[in-house]
Amino acid sequence: MDLARTDFYLDGRWAAASGSGTLPVHNPATEEVIATVPAGTEDDVGRAVDAARAAFAGWAAAAPADRAACLGRLHAALTARADDIARTIACELGTPLKVATRVQAGLPLTVLGGYVELAARGPAEQTVGHSLVVREPVGVVGAITPWNYPLHQVVAKLAPALAAGCPVVLKPSELTPLVAYLLFDAIDEAGFPPGVVNLVTGTGPVTGEALAAHPGVDMVSFTGSTATGRRISHLAADRIARVALELGGKSANVILDDADLATAVKVGVGNAFLNSGQTCTAWTRMLVHRTRYEEALTLAAQAAAGYRLGDPFDPATRLGPLVSAAQRQRVRDHIDRGLADGGRLVAGGPDAPVPDRGFFVAPTVIGDVDPDSALAQEEVFGPVLAVIPVDDDAHAVEVANNSRYGLAGAVWSGDEQRALRVARALRTGAVDINGAPFNPLAPFGGYKQSGLGRELGGYGLDEFLQTKAIQR
Ligand code: NAD
Repeated sequence: MDLARTDFYLDGRWAAASGSGTLPVHNPATEEVIATVPAGTEDDVGRAVDAARAAFAGWAAAAPADRAACLGRLHAALTARADDIARTIACELGTPLKVATRVQAGLPLTVLGGYVELAARGPAEQTVGHSLVVREPVGVVGAITPWNYPLHQVVAKLAPALAAGCPVVLKPSELTPLVAYLLFDAIDEAGFPPGVVNLVTGTGPVTGEALAAHPGVDMVSFTGSTATGRRISHLAADRIARVALELGGKSANVILDDADLATAVKVGVGNAFLNSGQTCTAWTRMLVHRTRYEEALTLAAQAAAGYRLGDPFDPATRLGPLVSAAQRQRVRDHIDRGLADGGRLVAGGPDAPVPDRGFFVAPTVIGDVDPDSALAQEEVFGPVLAVIPVDDDAHAVEVANNSRYGLAGAVWSGDEQRALRVARALRTGAVDINGAPFNPLAPFGGYKQSGLGRELGGYGLDEFLQTKAIQR
C-alpha cells in the first residue's frame, strides 16, 4: 500500500504545501520508513486559518440539520474506510490489528455517530428572567493531537467543534499523520463547505506553535503531554484564546480487600497494557490491600505472561511495539529507575526477550513501588505496571490522590456502596467501578495537571460554545 502524501487539505480541496520539507513516517514494528508527509510552515498554517475564518460566518449560521447532514455523510464515508483505518494505524503506530479494528477505528465511529445526533438538535436556548440566553460557536478551532489514538483524539475534537458551528484546522501528530489523511479523504467525499475543515501536517515546534499562536484561532483544543499543554496555554494566553487540554495521567486502580481479585487484576493488567501502555487513561498504578497483595502480584505476573509481543498483523499478537525509538528509550529508563528506586521485578523488565526488530518493550510488572518515587509519579507511556500495597480504604485514597495528575481510575469491591465512597473520594475526572465499560457519551477529562475542559457527548460540545445573554 502506497501511503505517501504530498498535499494539505485547505479551503475544501487538496493543495500543495508551500515548502519542500517532508517528514518520514515509520512502521514501529519494522523500523522502516513507510511514507512521507509534508512539513507545514507558518505560511501553510496561515492559509488554513484564513480559509477557516472565511468559512466561519456561513458555518455558524448553517441550520443544525445541515451541519448534521455533513457529519452524517462523513460518518458513512469513514465507515466505508474502517478496514483501511485499522490497517493504517497498525502500520504507523503498531497497535495489533484486532485492537486497532475494535478501538482505534471503532471508537471514533461511535463518537462521530453520537455527534451526528447532537448536531441535529442544535444548542439549547434558555430564558432566565427577562434574558434570552443563547449559545453560539466560539469561532475558529485549532486542533493539535497526539499519536496514541490518532483517529479517536481527532474525532473527539473535530466532531463536536463542527457540530457546534466552529471551523477547524487540524495538526495531527507527525508520528501518525497517515490516518488523518484517510479522515480527510472522507471529509472531501462528505462535501463540507470549503474552509470548514482543514489539515496541515508538521512538527510541534513549527506547525503546532504557529497554529496555537495564530491570532485568527479563537480556541486551541489540544491532547498530548502536560509539558506541551503548558506551552500551548502560554501561547493562547497572549490573546486570551480559549484552550481545552487533555493531558497526561497516572491513574490508580484501587483493589479493595473484598474485590474479585482474579478479575480485578486481569482487567487491571489489560487496561495498563492496552495499546502497549500508550493510553493517557491507563491504570498504571495498581493499589492493593496488603492482605491480598502477594496474591495480586502472582496474578499480575501470570496475566503479563499472556501478552505476546509481535507483528501487529499476526492474530496471535496481543502487544505491539511502542511508537518510536525515543519512546522505547523513555520507557526503558523508567523501568531502570523504578528498579534502582527499590521496585521488585515481578514480570518483564530490561532483560526479558523482545523481537529483534521493532521498538518493543516486554510487558513489565514492578511491585513494592514507593508511592513518592518516579515510577509512581511520572507518566511512563509504555507497558509498565507499578503495584503498591495499601493498608485500608483511607490509605488507598491517600496514595491514589498523591499525584499531580487526575485523569481516570478504578475501584474494585464486592460492596458497591463502599466502592462508590472510594470513587467519590478520588480526585480524578473518571472512575470505573468493577470493570464497568467505557461510556463514549460520558464527559472525559482531567482534574489537576491532567487537563482543562471535557470531551465527548454533550459536555464535549459545550466546550465549543460561548454564551450570550440578550435582555429584552
Ligand atoms: P506532545 O505533547 O509533544 O505532542 C502532542 C502533539 O503536540 C503533537 O501533534 C505535537 O506535534 C504537538 N506539539 C509538540 N510540541 C508543540 C508545541 N511546542 N506547540 C504546539 N504543538 C506542539 O507529546 P508526544 O511527544 O507525542 O509524547 C510525549 C509524551 O506525552 C508521552 O510520552 C506521554 O507521556 C505524553 N502523551 C500523553 C498523551 C495523552 O493523551 N494524555 C498523548 C500522547 C502523549
